[in-house]
Amino acid sequence: MGVNSCKVCDDPIACRAIDEELVKGLTYAALSRLMGLRGFKVGADTLSQHDKHRRPAAPAGIAKTKKDLATLVRDQVHDGVEKGEIDLLDRHGQGAIKVGLSAEKLIDGREARTKDTKAVIQLAVLLAGGPAGLLPPPDLLEDGNTLEGEYVPVDES
Ligand SMILES: [Zn+2]
Repeated sequence: MGVNSCKVCDDPIACRAIDEELVKGLTYAALSRLMGLRGFKVGADTLSQHDKHRRPAAPAGIAKTKKDLATLVRDQVHDGVEKGEIDLLDRHGQGAIKVGLSAEKLIDGREARTKDTKAVIQLAVLLAGGPAGLLPPPDLLEDGNTLEGEYVPVDES
């Protein structure tokens, strides 16, 4: 992952905008102009260079999200095995592979769950912060809004 000096990578915000446009298929020249108009002067050459080291084909499914730890671990272990840097017969190597496999499992599970994530988070919040044993009726959850405010028990004295 040796990124030397890249004007685009040096500016995370510009980098994000540029990557988005590159994905859309904008030419380097057009993007150079567009970014210039947005106040980020960058040549088509630089964009071309950036594009080469920037697009190591994001894995389908988790694309668009920033590379997180699980993905990173999985990829590193994968590379290590491929390049022979991780020795399968070595205890350390086996440990690394174990870690890589659990990362992979985590990623797979996460992909399958993505759609339910929102609901799960809402539920977790409610379970953690809501009144014990008192869950709101399901229809309150279906509009996609979280419940706001704090639960204040009624003083019965
Ligand atoms: Zn770059």
